[in-house]
Amino acid sequence: MKDLFFLSDICEVKFDAPSPSTFGSGGNLACVAYPKTAEELLKATSILDAEGVEYITLGACSNTLISDDGVDSVVISTQRLKGKTLEGNNLYLLAGERMTVVCRYAAENSLSGIEGLCSIPGSMGGGLAMNCGAFGRELGDVVEYADILVDGKIERIRAKDLNFAYRHSNVKYMGIVVGVGIKLVEGDKKRIGKDMKGYAIARAMSQPKGKSLGSVFKKSGIMSAGYYIDKAGLKGYGIGGAQISNIHANFILNIGGATSADFLRLADYARQEVDKCFGVKLKYEVEYLPDIRNLD
Ligand SMILES: Cc1cc2nc3c(=O)[nH]c(=O)nc-3n(C[C@H](O)[C@H](O)[C@H](O)COP(=O)(O)OP(=O)(O)OC[C@H]3O[C@@H](n4cnc5c(N)ncnc54)[C@H](O)[C@@H]3O)c2cc1C
Repeated sequence: MKDLFFLSDICEVKFDAPSPSTFGSGGNLACVAYPKTAEELLKATSILDAEGVEYITLGACSNTLISDDGVDSVVISTQRLKGKTLEGNNLYLLAGERMTVVCRYAAENSLSGIEGLCSIPGSMGGGLAMNCGAFGRELGDVVEYADILVDGKIERIRAKDLNFAYRHSNVKYMGIVVGVGIKLVEGDKKRIGKDMKGYAIARAMSQPKGKSLGSVFKKSGIMSAGYYIDKAGLKGYGIGGAQISNIHANFILNIGGATSADFLRLADYARQEVDKCFGVKLKYEVEYLPDIRNLD
């Protein structure tokens, strides 16, 4: 890898940083840059572009498995890229803001529309890229526009051009999300708080605690992937330190010392069994670094 110490003049940088994946596996990241502002992000990426250095973006890494061999490319982390602005019913969030924090902030300001997303552990940028959702609601439902760094310039892209679909948007093919504009509706503060509590309880009752990446596979038609994995008799089945949850069959847990290879072997086995039993080909929701879109 090139000498990248010049990045430290622009923003905080860590070399040989441990994997941030919420599954708790994966090798070290060779170089992570943590811009705190849009300006720092612009400067860091333009200098990397000028030097011909490739980079990858990560938010909270709650949907991303990191290879056991680690990642050699530069990672741009949005974890310090934070800021919230409220104007009427419109919220503007920098990409590193956490979904949990944004939902609480909306509730404090009597704004309704994202209560169901209140326990998703990702960032706004990752949420937009994945079009995260829960309880029948998706982030894309409330997005007005996103500011995206495209070819060295920040462009404001309207929601209709982001092509939101189930756990999909075009964001990943466009560039790095800097900020997101969402529009909510006025609501009753108490009611919003009560609904959020209800969603959090429903989630706590249906999903396991512990290290995971949430749902491993996307829904197949109207049926959840967990339904098929459960019916294939795989709840509790494990490989190495990775285990299919007994509570929610679409969750793989790190029950101690799991590697990313354990995760992938177990997920591939579940997929193979579901195909064998039901002829259903599950598609990964989880992503894999360094080759972020190669799980198929
Ligand atoms: C316990 C648990 C529960 C979960 N429950 C849900 C749920 O109910 N619903 C749901 O949809 N998901 C759920 N997830 C998955 C995950 O939290 C979401 O997909 C979340 O939106 C990912 O955000 P992130 O910041 O962690 O993304 P990351 O994992 O960091 O990245 C995901 C993708 O987004 C891209 N990306 C990240 N930031 C940016 C940016 N600023 N600009 C451009 N691209 C970017 C990355 O390159 C990558 O392709 C859960 C995960 C866990 C661990």
